Amino acid sequence: MKGNKSKLKQTKIKENGAEEEVLFTSLRAKEWSEFHGQRPIKESLKITITAARKRKEAIEHILLYGPPGLGKTTLSHLIAKEMESNIRVTSGPAIERAGDLASILTNLEKTDILFIDEVHRLNKVVEETLYPAMEDYALDIILGKGPSARTLRLDLPQFTIIGATTRIGLLSAPLRDRFGVVHRLNFYSPLELEGIIINASKKLSVPIDNESIKEIAKRARGTPRIALKLLKRARDFVQVKSEGEITKVLVEEALKMLEVDHLGLDGSDKRFIKAIIEKHGGGPVGIETIAASISEDIGTIEEVIEPYLLQIGFLKRTNKGRVITKFAYEHLGIKFAEENLPAGRQGKNQQKLL
Ligand code: ADP
Repeated sequence: MKGNKSKLKQTKIKENGAEEEVLFTSLRAKEWSEFHGQRPIKESLKITITAARKRKEAIEHILLYGPPGLGKTTLSHLIAKEMESNIRVTSGPAIERAGDLASILTNLEKTDILFIDEVHRLNKVVEETLYPAMEDYALDIILGKGPSARTLRLDLPQFTIIGATTRIGLLSAPLRDRFGVVHRLNFYSPLELEGIIINASKKLSVPIDNESIKEIAKRARGTPRIALKLLKRARDFVQVKSEGEITKVLVEEALKMLEVDHLGLDGSDKRFIKAIIEKHGGGPVGIETIAASISEDIGTIEEVIEPYLLQIGFLKRTNKGRVITKFAYEHLGIKFAEENLPAGRQGKNQQKLL
């Protein structure tokens, strides 16, 4: 552990392998007290960190997963801060060759943290190089080719990998098993988002009334990044339309312009739901078919659109495919009319567009 906090570095490894020093973006939570919600995860991490610090060891490798914008990167920086450790930030696709990984790992110091975003996108060769590094703090380097090739084992300092992913299902089992601590980040309650919005509005020095805070929190899909984005858009709107504080009327106007409705659904969510209803009788339908009918990438549907729709009960995943629920019909003002369905679908609790 490093004694001098001011010397601790946050560096990011870019796709070309170059390093840049990272400064916290102005709205990122810099203290645990600014990190709202996720209480069980915070408590469990604090125990992990305190125990590691007592032992003067690196913390175990940590895997954080959940939809984008829920705080995985922020948590990693907070962990590094609490450990008084350097953090280096990179991502799965940025580490192209085993040699890139070797150069990152051999530059780490004891208890340093390597944050790998999109860890499910590491390529196979890099991933296999990572296994002994994670398990034994060792790197196996192959020298030469063919029968004369030799393996050289390089010892590494005790370091920690924090992996983040939005697609835990795409992580190979051997990699997943090498993370000693695994946490799933959940969507935030409106109350938790309110705290985040209040904090951010202070940092941005933008006055906002209580009703507007509640309105933004309600429409932010349980996601801090979206809450902050909506707050910033409302701020722009107020600065152009009036000089005063953010009020509910202005928030509503701003969100209408962004096509964000009162549950936080936007244009892509509605296109997704309507495509299933109008083109596939409400489902069940496979993800590939939906993706093709709305020209959307499957990854975006699975990572960004579906988790929130599943959470609010608008969508069900069955083994035959995706099914839109009655609640989504009601929300979009589309009638649930079983008698109009094709004969084969009647009686299956299916629905039909008016
Ligand atoms: P992820 O890595 O999961 O995509 P980030 O850590 O980049 O998400 O968070 C997105 C934004 O939301 C950042 O500005 C971050 O400060 C803010 N944020 C995320 N979670 C919280 C939280 N629990 N409390 C306060 N702000 C948060």
